[in-house]
Amino acid sequence: MTTTPDTLTGHEELLLAPDWLMLHDGPRQDMAVLVRGARFAEVGTLRDLAAAHPGLRPVALPQRLLMPGLIDTHTHLTQSFGKALAFGEPSEIFRRIWVPMEATLDGDAAYLSTKLAALESLRGGFTTVVDAGTRSEAGLHAVASATREVGIRCVLGQICNDAANADGESGVRRILDAAAAFLAQYEHDTLVHPSLAISIPEAATDRMLHDVAMLTREAGRRFQTHVNEHLVAVERSLVARGLRPLEVLHAAGALNDSALLAHCTLLTSREFGLLRDSGAAVAYNPVASAWKGNAVLDAGMLQMLGVPFGLGTDGTRADGLRLMDAAEATQRLTHGLA
Ligand SMILES: [Zn+2]
Repeated sequence: MTTTPDTLTGHEELLLAPDWLMLHDGPRQDMAVLVRGARFAEVGTLRDLAAAHPGLRPVALPQRLLMPGLIDTHTHLTQSFGKALAFGEPSEIFRRIWVPMEATLDGDAAYLSTKLAALESLRGGFTTVVDAGTRSEAGLHAVASATREVGIRCVLGQICNDAANADGESGVRRILDAAAAFLAQYEHDTLVHPSLAISIPEAATDRMLHDVAMLTREAGRRFQTHVNEHLVAVERSLVARGLRPLEVLHAAGALNDSALLAHCTLLTSREFGLLRDSGAAVAYNPVASAWKGNAVLDAGMLQMLGVPFGLGTDGTRADGLRLMDAAEATQRLTHGLA
């Protein structure tokens, strides 16, 4: 059967026979996958699966490798238009570029930026992207519709920062009500999975950190924030609070197993312990560390402690295989690998 994009749509069941299939122990030939209801239902040799499903004609995929989709655990889909400015920018780039740039995005611009980033992600092997939330007021639903159109799964964060709230309790209530409404609106969406975010711990009050972390936990969703990304962020937190950013989360009661923490590049032994005890997950962003950081997360330590972590692009370049390469090289250079 000649393969065209149409060959792969409109079937409840497909028997795919790629030249190569990526398994846990590496790429293998003469294998096949039974796709049922858009999921990998069975994996086996082509001979076995063809015999077990005589009614299905194998779809040959010559010169193709079939593999599970990759997950980008931390990105910013509405930063596409600033990528050319980002390389070589030292820490705290958000102050100079991202906050001002994203604030100018209307719904159309957020949609276009997201579509560009989502297509690049698909090309780079990602089928799920975790967006830490756009600062574009008009952008959130534009991000949702662009990712849905592209066909990529998106964990989408709504930002709940309240440090600049001047309306007291009513301002807090407004943010929390909008957060709950956002979680409810996308509760049953198959491609857009709602999440709540606070940009960095100091962008919110302790009460908001706590309430948002609890809200996401109750909803079975993810609470996203950036912590301990680089020296300046840690120092500022120490000066303002006498605590490092991760310790601020812990003190506020916001460090639980719903948390997905971006970066964690600078962790003390105590913070490694807090992470392990909390059940929180970490997004390790090796290219972002190379571009703007002054340290590298000790991913081997996380693995040893059983802290779940995944790789993230942080909006740098959406190429999954190069990201893995960067992750390994960065660990070897800084912490060594067995
Ligand atoms: Zn980020």
